[in-house]
Amino acid sequence: MQETDFDVIIVGAGFSGVYMLHKCRSLGLSARVIEAGTSVGGTWYWNRYPGARCDVESMTYSYSFLEDLEQEWHWPERYAKQSEILRYIDHVVDRLGMRKDIQTETRVTEATFNEATNRWTVVTDPEEQFTAKYCIMATGCLSTPNLPQFDGLESYEGDWHHTGYWPKEGVDFSGKRVGIVGTGSSAIQSIPMIAAQADHLTVFQRTPNFSIPAWNGPIGEDAEREWKKAYPELRARARVSPVGATFEAPDISAMDVSAEERERTFERRWNEGSFNFLAAYSDLLTNKESNVLATDFVHRKIRSRVNDPVVAEMLCPKDHPLGTKRLCVDTDYYETYNRDNVALVDVKTTPINSIVPDGIRVGDTVYPLDAIVFATGFDAMTGALLNIDIRGRGGIAFRDKWADGPSSYLGVAVAGFPNLFTVTGPGSPSVLSNMMVSIEQHVEWIADCIAHMEKDAVATIEPKPEAESTWMAHVNQLASEMLYQESNTWYLGANIPGKPRVFLPYVGGVGHYRTVCDDVAAKGYEGFTLA
Ligand code: FAD
Ligand code: NAP
Repeated sequence: MQETDFDVIIVGAGFSGVYMLHKCRSLGLSARVIEAGTSVGGTWYWNRYPGARCDVESMTYSYSFLEDLEQEWHWPERYAKQSEILRYIDHVVDRLGMRKDIQTETRVTEATFNEATNRWTVVTDPEEQFTAKYCIMATGCLSTPNLPQFDGLESYEGDWHHTGYWPKEGVDFSGKRVGIVGTGSSAIQSIPMIAAQADHLTVFQRTPNFSIPAWNGPIGEDAEREWKKAYPELRARARVSPVGATFEAPDISAMDVSAEERERTFERRWNEGSFNFLAAYSDLLTNKESNVLATDFVHRKIRSRVNDPVVAEMLCPKDHPLGTKRLCVDTDYYETYNRDNVALVDVKTTPINSIVPDGIRVGDTVYPLDAIVFATGFDAMTGALLNIDIRGRGGIAFRDKWADGPSSYLGVAVAGFPNLFTVTGPGSPSVLSNMMVSIEQHVEWIADCIAHMEKDAVATIEPKPEAESTWMAHVNQLASEMLYQESNTWYLGANIPGKPRVFLPYVGGVGHYRTVCDDVAAKGYEGFTLA
């Protein structure tokens, strides 16, 4: 056991942890990042499945604090692929000389607050022990892969992989019969790629998802130049926008325009691609009638892209409002079902009952497969935090405190756990935004808070229980006014058996949330106890 003492321990070396380290070093603090993977990148280190790329524009999916780099960096495509994003974060880490402060291949298993010393003790696997005044969880919202408990998986004789834990050396599906379980964003990106390589692909679909075309392609020189010129203004606009984006979001209901105008607007948004579509009207996620109009438009698009009308109907989501499961963004997803080597199997009516040595059994039918891809998602937002045994004042366990769902003040700190911060934690906008914008906002707020504490020699900061309760009531109240409740999603924990059904992110908008956080800080960290 080696004991090492720092001002700050940061758990996780994705975009959050890396920026947090940079801010801590800028404040003159000693900091160590502890990361389970063999290198940095988080999401973009683990998710190497075929077709993995961002679905917000590359030009906006990067740090804004590195103004030189944003002018220098060339993003070749409108949506950057995983390897390009990984290359970017690797470059940032080297450029800022941060690698020596990042300890990889080390998983944090315990974090305990010592009330006598006001310090955190962090224990890892392989076993080491660290102490620090501050403990910052940059553990990611989508970093704990969910592998459902399928009977017989251990008997399977082919290869299987989870999209969120993909081998670095890649997987060659040539000449193979492949099965993929799931039709969320990961599956929708990988299905066209796997279908193009494999001998045959069977897609096991429980719930069809809405997907909008990405219209990916190279970024032209002129567009890149214009974008770079406008960067300060675009970044500023994203910071105060509802979802951290630069697209226009008019405050107008879909019900307040004529059918012809609505059709034109939906068509224009469809042709712009990606999340623009959801911003066509301000009430698509609050008004069922408006949502039905958008749903009808997308259903017609799906039917026009898929040749077989039976398959097209299977692909049209009808059990949840558009956008209440995270919208997917695709390249040739629906067209892939027009290929002769692709089959779609409904596993809602008859679920997968087991994995057998040579494939997947659904009811009485065995689908013989040489390889299986589980695109079955993540234990989102709370999974990575609850995997660590975090103990606060009086030995209270995070796992107990959050047994009925997470409770947090601003999604950034938790009552009873002094000097512990969660980057993009539940109760903050995080996953409902371009996460780069939310990550930077949280990291900067936490760094300012720590700077304030260091300047005034404050030993501890922690939320007051009543401030936390009021915030959670607000988070839940706003969520209850949205259509999100009508859908079984990871936003609600519904994808993990036994997980409490609580809407996890804050729907109040990135811009509004920033104002709330800034006001809290301006009022001397209102709602927190500083000791
Ligand atoms: P992560 O990148 O998840 O990093 C967390 C790190 O913490 C991981 O490396 C993990 O290994 C480490 N860790 C966790 N627990 C421990 C522990 N106990 N000990 C040590 N290390 C630990 N967002 C967007 O805004 N736009 C997109 O287009 C987009 N695309 C995505 C595509 C995929 C496939 C996925 C899964 C997510 C996507 N996201 C997207 C969300 C994405 O997670 C965020 O944008 C962002 O990368 C999160 O960064 P992070 O540092 O907060 O978390
Ligand atoms: P996901 O959206 O949770 O999708 C998981 C899929 O697996 C769903 O279709 C789910 O069906 C299915 N599934 C789970 N358990 C199953 C079972 N037992 N039997 C059959 N099907 C089962 O996960 P994801 O696709 O990995 O995406 C997670 C999030 O990561 C996204 O929402 C997004 O935020 C982010 N992401 C972004 C991109 C991008 O485009 N940039 C790409 C990948 C991921 P049900 O719907 O019925 O539960």
